Formats: sequence, C-alpha cells, structure tokens
Amino acid sequence: MKFTVAKVSECNSSCPENAIVLLFKKRRIYLRSTEPVKFLSGLEVSGLPGLEYMSMGTLDDRQCFGVMINDDLQVPENFCDMEFRDAIKLFDQGSFAAASRAAQLLSWKNTHKFCNNCGTATKQSPVETAVVCVKCGAAHYPKICPAVIVSVLHEDKILLAHNRNFRPGLFSTIAGFVEAGESLEDCVRREVLEEVGVNVRDIKYFDSQSWPFPNSLMLGFTAEHESGEIRPDGTEITEADWFTADALPEIPAPGSISRSLIDDFIDRNKSKAKSKSK
Ligand SMILES: [Zn+2]
Repeated sequence: MKFTVAKVSECNSSCPENAIVLLFKKRRIYLRSTEPVKFLSGLEVSGLPGLEYMSMGTLDDRQCFGVMINDDLQVPENFCDMEFRDAIKLFDQGSFAAASRAAQLLSWKNTHKFCNNCGTATKQSPVETAVVCVKCGAAHYPKICPAVIVSVLHEDKILLAHNRNFRPGLFSTIAGFVEAGESLEDCVRREVLEEVGVNVRDIKYFDSQSWPFPNSLMLGFTAEHESGEIRPDGTEITEADWFTADALPEIPAPGSISRSLIDDFIDRNKSKAKSKSK
C-alpha cells in the first residue's frame, strides 16, 4: 500500500467511519486482525469514549488517523494488540510508514503539551505539523534523528556485527546516529571506524526508512572496505566478521533496512555467481 503524508493541522473528536485508525496504547498498537493485517476503522473504534483523532495522511485512498488511548481505557475484546516493534514483520512498507508516523506524532503531542521555553500550554498550529505556545508564540516540531546504516563490502563478503543489545547470535550491519555538524558520508566513515576499526571508501546511498523506535530516520548506504583489520570496539560491538552470502549468521527479520541491505548483498552475489558459471 502507498502511504502519503498529510500535515497535521487539527485534532477532532471523531473521524469518518471508513477511515483507518492507528490506535496506540503507549508502544502497543491495536489492529482488527494480524493475519492478514487489518487496521481498525473509524466505525470499529467509534464506541470508545473521549478519543482525539489526529489526521496525518492517507493509505492508498483511505484517510489515516492516529489515536493514543489512556492506560485504563478498556478496548473491545476482539481488537488484537501487539508491541509496535513486533508489528514491523507483518506490515507492508506503506502500512509501516503510516503506523510509524502515527506512533511518532502521538508521542510528540503527548510530550509537548507545554512550551519548553516558558511552560505555558501549547495548541496545534493550524498551518503546519507543529504545536505553538499560546503565550510566547514559540513553535515546537516533531524531532527526527537521522542515523546511518551501512553494509561494508569486501570482495564476496559483507561485514556484519553483533551489538551487545542484540539477542545472542544475531548479526547486522553497522549503524549510528549522525552528530551535529556532520555530513552523512563522514558519519558513515566515523561509525564504521569507531565500531569495527576499518576504513571505507565508495560510499553510495542505498535507501531510507522511517524508524520509530523512538524517532529515527535510517539512511542506508553501501561502502567498500578500504583498509584495516576488523577490531570490534568492545563496548557497543562485541563481535564482528566478514561473511559470504552462503554462510551468513542469523540476520534481522524482513522489513528493516538492515535486512534490505543484506538481501541486496545476497542478490548481487547470486548474480555474480551466475555470470561466472556461464
Ligand atoms: Zn512559550
């Protein structure tokens, strides 16, 4: 499905019956069903009292609303709920983008009820995705933190690393947040050097993905190994190695950009192997 962003300019006390409602309780998302994924509709949630609907885009031709509910609100038993982080495996790209936008905007709204300049209450801007202080006029926008993620390649191998926060045996590509004042390419070079001690060249843009855990934008790159032996930093990265496409360790589930980078490496090695055997 195709998700198209719409600016948030108001919140309403109701929404159209056929609209998609992305209903969250903290970091859990509620759905009509999980297999296949079916979002809740305006009609299905219309019985819940006191909801505030945030219009934030369209999924194909259906308007999408984000709604955050209080901990103590009882939802109908036939709604399914799950940790939003686990939902990524089930969602197509467009659906994930819609849910990602809802999760980030709802959390932003919740933490920006008061101006962080002067402490006065804020209200929704009528013209852009911002809240505005009713006293000092300061506008506050949702925060998005850019991060790079990179597949480092060398001949027929890819560099994958085990982060100390991963479950045992899981390996992924190198990633890290962009520092203030830094270009994306400099960030790629720095993160790879810091985390595994190698220098890279030929940095090429790959793809990007909104990553709402809690509010990142992942910018994917590929790079070639230039020099240096792998040396995990021992703090964030506890293990790292070169892997061939036919002997990979456990890798992230489909749906994440890290998995897309690794799949792209696998595909390219398959086509290389094919052209060699011709
Ligand atoms: Zn203010």
